[in-house]
Amino acid sequence: MTEKQAATAALSPAEVDRRIIAAFLDSEDPALDALVPGLDEADIRRRAAAIGLTRELVRDARVAGVVRLAMRACIRCDSPFLSVGPQNRLCRRCNR
Ligand SMILES: [Zn+2]
Repeated sequence: MTEKQAATAALSPAEVDRRIIAAFLDSEDPALDALVPGLDEADIRRRAAAIGLTRELVRDARVAGVVRLAMRACIRCDSPFLSVGPQNRLCRRCNR
């Protein structure tokens, strides 16, 4: 395990995703380098893209005012997915 992987492993995957979502909601130009120990800006942008955190979702969440965007567990398959609100409980795969 590299030093970089060891630092990231100190945070749970859920906490890493929570920090990434919060940072993008918080700022148009978030400081990503110090956000998650061991992950650089490119790693974080890749992870944001992987969970489906798009500019559109971030913009809509800001317009709505109340932030409901969060990683939630799918009620059918239990996988974590980017949910747009408490009512959105099925991941994209199960929602088809
Ligand atoms: Zn599912």
